[in-house]
Amino acid sequence: MIFPPPLREGGLRGRVDYIPKESYEAVIGLEIHVELNTESKMFCACPVSFGEKPNTQVCPVCLGHPGVLPVLNGKAVEYATLIGLSLNCEVTEFCQFHRKNYFYPDMPKDYQISQYDLPLCVEGYLEVGEEKGVSRIRITRVHMEEDTGKLIHIGGSGRIHGADYSLVDFNRAGVPLIEIVSEPDIRSPEEARMFMQKLRSIILTLGVSDCNMEEGSMRCDANVSIRPVGQKEFGTKTEVKNINSFRSVQRALQHELDRHIDTIDSGDRVVQETRHWDDAGGVTTSLRSKEEAHDYRYFPEPDLVPLISDKPKVERMKKALPELPDARRVRLMEQYGLPKHDANVISLSKATGDFFEEVMETYEDARKVSNWILVELGALLNQANLEIDECAVTPRHLIDLLKLMDKGTISGKMAKDIFKESFDTGKLSSVIVEDKGLVQLTDEDAIGKIVEQVLAENPKAIEDYKGGQERVVGFLVGQVMRLTQGKASPDAVNRLLKSKLNNK
Ligand code: ADP
Ligand code: ZN
Ligand code: MG
Repeated sequence: MIFPPPLREGGLRGRVDYIPKESYEAVIGLEIHVELNTESKMFCACPVSFGEKPNTQVCPVCLGHPGVLPVLNGKAVEYATLIGLSLNCEVTEFCQFHRKNYFYPDMPKDYQISQYDLPLCVEGYLEVGEEKGVSRIRITRVHMEEDTGKLIHIGGSGRIHGADYSLVDFNRAGVPLIEIVSEPDIRSPEEARMFMQKLRSIILTLGVSDCNMEEGSMRCDANVSIRPVGQKEFGTKTEVKNINSFRSVQRALQHELDRHIDTIDSGDRVVQETRHWDDAGGVTTSLRSKEEAHDYRYFPEPDLVPLISDKPKVERMKKALPELPDARRVRLMEQYGLPKHDANVISLSKATGDFFEEVMETYEDARKVSNWILVELGALLNQANLEIDECAVTPRHLIDLLKLMDKGTISGKMAKDIFKESFDTGKLSSVIVEDKGLVQLTDEDAIGKIVEQVLAENPKAIEDYKGGQERVVGFLVGQVMRLTQGKASPDAVNRLLKSKLNNK
């Protein structure tokens, strides 16, 4: 038979070769742009700065006036090389800039100086997923280019469609930009998020960008397709743009994968196109199809000489790379005896790793510190949607709290409440304790009296205990804690209760 049988109502679901959702595999490749934090732009002396008055950080070069010549920023090449080396790439012997031609109002020259078939770095990899089994994601290339200006659409939804007019700010035009392209080796939205996080952590460790997705100094275009598990050939991909946070990397990809599966399930074909992620709506919408794709007419940039790699220098740079997250993870386990999971999470974020190690400079118990960072602080950060270096709690706050607990001034239960207040107000625990007179009640005579009172009020509980119901101890401890407003030392309460119960 040449033609497939007509689809029944409900599309492929009615067919014998219907593939259940779980049998599809995600294929994802990321293209990530990172703005370098060099002092000056890629090809001129204008400062790289964020949040300045529009069109004040510009000159004839980055405005693309006729007759100007670009001069390559050596620091930008060095930073790009560092990124390539830390991603296990090979630095190419000969690399060249190309002009990528297209017209758009945010680009004054009508071409972007970028790299094409001769990029700075090629063939690297990044490993993710230490928890569940390491996946090696190959890096196709790391290349250099210049950023564009910024369009601000006024009126309507803030997007170009429906806007009354648009403004352009060229301060960002010509800022050094690095593009990192992965092979389609990523197999889940979660893995994509981990890849982005690891990459961010590496680049922050190098100190060459602040990698802020919300402010746009790190941007991600995600290419997605699906295929039945076991199939070698790739399916048709779509490219999702406008992903502006780590959370949306995972959300946008999950949505897009589901859309691919639904499309195929209903008997349609996925169309190769670029799609826009709408974070508020949680959906992607079509931007342009393959037919509308640009032909960039790349040609070698005649105003810039090719770069010949300085091999000894590259070797020296490779040797001098700082300790990267993977190495830090291993060291955290060796030096502090941290469990694997803790070391993973702590090393995955540069700021968390720095926080942990700063506390460890003046505090001994690594497990306790990592527990407080991952569990208590982690929960508060999650709730507030903040990063560890954006919140009011500093290493000093945690040290202060842990020491108060060690001295027995406060109980573990009190510590949690105090920590929350520290987080909200930025006050040190010792200050909160002092202000509120929150001192743990350790005086055994005083606690003993309250224990007696609770026992006197709960004869039934005593009977139950004698009858073998150990559970009532928990209830009685709760009563004592209530009467002491949580200040009694839980150890002392437990001990006193048990001894008094056993003597009844
Ligand atoms: P294009 O020619 O459309 O630019 P490329 O081959 O250069 O495509 O790949 C661009 C990005 O898309 C890379 O990150 C790559 O890993 C990814 N990619 C390529 N093919 C697929 C696919 N079938 N599914 C998912 N991602 C893909
Ligand atoms: Zn300039
Ligand atoms: Mg491409």
